[in-house]
Amino acid sequence: MYFHHPRYAAHLNYPVALPAVAAEALVTSINTSMDTWDQSAGATLIERRLVRWAADLAGLGAAADGIFTSGGTQSNLQALLMARNRAVSPGTGPLPGRLAGWRIYASQDSHFSIVRSAVHLGLGEDAVVPIPVDRNHRMDQVALERAMGEDAARGLRALAVVATAGTTDFGSIDPLDDLASAARRNGAWFHVDAAYGCGLLASPTRRHWLAGIERADSVTVDFHKSFFQPIGSSALLVAEGSRFAHITHHADYLNPDQDPDSPNQVDKSLQTTRRFDALKLWVTLRSLGSDVLGGLFDATLDLAAEAGRLVEDTEHLALAAPVQLGTVVFRFEPGGGPGADGVAVDRLQDALRRSLYRSGEAMVAATTVAGRRHLKLTLLNPRTTVADVEAILEAVVRHGRAVAESEVAA
Ligand SMILES: *Cc1c(COP(=O)(O)O)cnc(C)c1O
Repeated sequence: MYFHHPRYAAHLNYPVALPAVAAEALVTSINTSMDTWDQSAGATLIERRLVRWAADLAGLGAAADGIFTSGGTQSNLQALLMARNRAVSPGTGPLPGRLAGWRIYASQDSHFSIVRSAVHLGLGEDAVVPIPVDRNHRMDQVALERAMGEDAARGLRALAVVATAGTTDFGSIDPLDDLASAARRNGAWFHVDAAYGCGLLASPTRRHWLAGIERADSVTVDFHKSFFQPIGSSALLVAEGSRFAHITHHADYLNPDQDPDSPNQVDKSLQTTRRFDALKLWVTLRSLGSDVLGGLFDATLDLAAEAGRLVEDTEHLALAAPVQLGTVVFRFEPGGGPGADGVAVDRLQDALRRSLYRSGEAMVAATTVAGRRHLKLTLLNPRTTVADVEAILEAVVRHGRAVAESEVAA
């Protein structure tokens, strides 16, 4: 599968910036590991510089710190681990007994890694309370306050509120400022999963869409998504750097008689041996600059907005929700009036997607919205043009009609 093809519009795989590819060759050749200062002084300084840069873009303040991770999944897990350890310590008795009764609030459109993290952390799947969303698929703040109030009355405690800045399906951005206030009032950690939406931090025109992110306790940013970096390149940013103490476990062999003031990245990471992924972003920023990256991300958002209009104007296609970032969720409707069999139309979405995939003309994704199968364009490639989108939609309709007709014939 060639993600750089302008008609690849399926998953959240970004085309990569060329300077990062050059840096990747260097990263792999020198094979630096980031775990101790004595083997990675230059790499550590570069990583810390980029963490500072990203934390400043997010407005997290002077005490902020962070660490590069393998991806958004690991960043989300680490954020919730830190939130969990803060919540249960100091405490008495063995840890497992102290994990009961904590709740994590996230929208029902949040990334599945939030629920999986709760499972890994011994909190259980039910610890994550799925909060309903509005018609734009943003977390409903009133529903959040209600859920938190009802849980508190039952003796349950708020561990964290997780806001998503750019949901995987709809690109929706939860109301960050309101959710920060709700988290504060309830003593909960406020985590923002900006794995996808982090590109807005560098956007020359849309940075204000992330207003409120500066109030986060922690932020997930995936540079291997909207900063056009090769996999993996991601970071967890933390507003109070001292909170990394919640996960520190001192290993003597990694810190031989080290000056306590020298940087120590391993104490902030879930990993030990860790790639020097920061170099890729460093070289990209040094050669292209942040504004160029933000502008490229903006271009994909402009294209997605136009793609949404095209879907609305195309016979047999129905848009599922307003376009927010770079995704366009829609359905192929063969016609036949309101009596048309819903299950058959659901099956048709998957059948036409398979047919299109096999043809090699384009690739689109599929997802389920309110129980109904839909198709999805994820537009991430600055080289994809409006003409490409027109061609993709034309192919969707053509394959959809062909599949529908062949089924009638059968
Ligand atoms: C992609 C994504 C993740 C997971 O990040 P990985 O880098 O794939 O581990 C988490 N949250 C959101 C909103 C995402 O889009």
